[in-house]
Amino acid sequence: MPLGFRKTSRAQKGVASEQQVASGSSAPERAEVLGEVEELGIGMFWATDAEDRLSFMSQRALADLGAIGDGLIGKPLTSVFFDIEAEAGAPTQRSLAFKLKARSKLDEQIVAVPDGRGSTRWWRLNGRPLLDSTGTFRGYRGSAVDISAQYAYETQVARQSQVDELTGLANRRKLGERLTAMLAAFRASQRSCALMMLDLDRFKQVNDTMGHPAGDELLKQVAQRLTTIVGNHGEVGRLGGDEFQVLLPDMDDRGTLGELANRIVQSVSQPYQINGRRAIIGTSIGIAIAPYDGVEADELTSAADMALYSAKETRGGTFCFFTSELRDAASKTALLGDRLRDAVDRGELKLAYQPLVDPRTNEVKCFEALLRWHDEDQGDISPAQFIPVAENDDLIIKIGEMALRQACIDALDWPDTVRVAVNVSAKQFVRPGYRKAVAAALRASGLSPQRLELEITESVFVGDLETVDAIFRDLKKLGVRLALDDFGTGYSSLGYLKHGHFDKIKIDQSFVRGCTENGDINPAIIAAIVALAKALGMETVAEGVEAMDELALVKERGADLVQGYIFSRPMTQDQVLAQFAEGSARFRPSGPPRHRSERITIFRKVGLIHEDHYYDVILRNLSKTGARITGLAGVPVGTDVVLDLGHGQLVVSKVVNASENSQGLRFETALISDGSGGFMTRHRISPYSLAEAGIPLAALGAGAFPLAKWREANKTIPKFVQLELSVPNA
Ligand code: C2E
Ligand code: MG
Ligand code: MG
Repeated sequence: MPLGFRKTSRAQKGVASEQQVASGSSAPERAEVLGEVEELGIGMFWATDAEDRLSFMSQRALADLGAIGDGLIGKPLTSVFFDIEAEAGAPTQRSLAFKLKARSKLDEQIVAVPDGRGSTRWWRLNGRPLLDSTGTFRGYRGSAVDISAQYAYETQVARQSQVDELTGLANRRKLGERLTAMLAAFRASQRSCALMMLDLDRFKQVNDTMGHPAGDELLKQVAQRLTTIVGNHGEVGRLGGDEFQVLLPDMDDRGTLGELANRIVQSVSQPYQINGRRAIIGTSIGIAIAPYDGVEADELTSAADMALYSAKETRGGTFCFFTSELRDAASKTALLGDRLRDAVDRGELKLAYQPLVDPRTNEVKCFEALLRWHDEDQGDISPAQFIPVAENDDLIIKIGEMALRQACIDALDWPDTVRVAVNVSAKQFVRPGYRKAVAAALRASGLSPQRLELEITESVFVGDLETVDAIFRDLKKLGVRLALDDFGTGYSSLGYLKHGHFDKIKIDQSFVRGCTENGDINPAIIAAIVALAKALGMETVAEGVEAMDELALVKERGADLVQGYIFSRPMTQDQVLAQFAEGSARFRPSGPPRHRSERITIFRKVGLIHEDHYYDVILRNLSKTGARITGLAGVPVGTDVVLDLGHGQLVVSKVVNASENSQGLRFETALISDGSGGFMTRHRISPYSLAEAGIPLAALGAGAFPLAKWREANKTIPKFVQLELSVPNA
């Protein structure tokens, strides 16, 4: 073993005392030994004075620092060596300044050292404070090893296990750890935390048609948009594939969360530029909030997942909050799929036809074919419910082609001037065989292509637009007409209207319904859509017109056609034929004179609290601002009550009108939309406060308010007469 090495190893451990180093060797000798040691690449040496200024640095160390090396002597040590950034995976250590001030030993302290050439090196420092014989501090003596290569590698490895390499966001592992730690910490301080689970709509299509590098680029851009929107409200991460997650501490206001989710949906569905090509995707979001929907990380994650699934089912491009009903719905959906398959095989799916009428002449111009399914046990099941289930697998292709064939055959029995419109699922539309199926249906029935209209929703405009364009051109060549359905609800990019594929725009019901209410901006939107359509040579249809005032408004704003209950509900083919047989192609409008504010008709048992007594009532209908209940008698107008809608939703209300056994309630605070057509309260009763009342901390259940406990604790005398309720299994 060379002499130099032995001496070095002692020197490297730190300089214990001046006497020790100095003993038995002269200054030039020492310098020579140090030089040898450095030459061998074993270490570099440095020293400070009593004021923590650099007083010595060995030759190689100075050389290592290039041009700035010479000027370093005399500078404070903390302006030569810098603390490393506290980065994911980096070892945590006390700051250099702290240690110097405390005169403590530097033990493997990793520091950043600017090398004077624009980049940074990493050194590992060891050092000891040097005391003279009187115990006075004289400065530090230390050694250093350049660990740049190793450090860069180690931090990269550490980062890789925490960071998603493609996007630089937190990865699944880090998110999981964060969520678990956050929930544990928040429980003690009774804080809440929301979890958003995102899944991109039609990302796979972009990946398949434009290639994986394009898919990667798209994910990066999505990550940027998400980070921008979420800002410092929370942490964005990528779970893998096209799944992202957002963790939002101290968030339990479902109104605020809904708005944020909406902004995310809007932003993600704006077009992307990828290597000069355009692509559009969408996103669905599921939201769960701790401790309401889950107390443990697993529970909360699965709640958010279920909400995401439900959002995707509804139609994609939306968000959905978790409710405990979703848990049951998930298993029901699986069953529905099996039943649907059987129903299709047995030919139980039928078509109904709803007229599209010219409001100026009341003459029918077209019928829209709408699927109807009557199940023996479950009764009528809405296409809004079973079409998404069919879209989960190839069943949609079978159902779609069946509807197409049947509609063409049925239309042949109508007057030549009346067209038929058939709905096309986006999944069916982008399948390679679709054009062929349309051609075959026309050929088999002998229907003229101009009489067939295909209704497509905006969701086809996600994915690779070039492919979609090609399908449109193919279909136009066949001579069929194309209608854009539910306009304004989906990805709402006007860009694709300019391509001129569409003959017709159907303005979505959500713009039409309630458009006559004071201060509503929808009339302006309807007028703008009509003007735009006219300019581009397209026909417009107002969907979902129910009341006379709505009819007057859409007519006045220039809609060419009207579809809605005001003219007719969907009819059977027999009813359509009977009407034509009478020689009439006209439909007379009939409906309520005015639109009633949005109310959901419900028949559900809920709770009502009045002066510490808990009653059972039946909810008959519900709007954002009020409800109608039955089940109690003798409740005077003006009574203050609290309605318990379940799932921890308590609504402070006042009785504003009352008949013998039915009351109208006005809510103190309006409900908010739940993102899928229902209403919910902004806040819920916190499981933390329930825990304080002695109920074990757990997520809220369906009958979240602890009914039994309440009743036990409050054996009060009722003020009102509880009538017998007849809601089975409610
Ligand atoms: P859509 O294509 O927008 O059809 C219009 C929906 O609005 C129909 O619901 C219709 O019954 C309803 N509607 C019409 N006028 C009014 C009104 O005045 N008030 C109200 N409240 N509703 C009105 P439906 O039949 O339940 O269909 C729901 C959706 O299911 C359709 O929406 C369509 O997207 C889908 N669908 C129906 N049939 C098919 C099909 O054969 N293939 C595919 N892919 N989807 C279909
Ligand atoms: Mg339609
Ligand atoms: Mg529609």
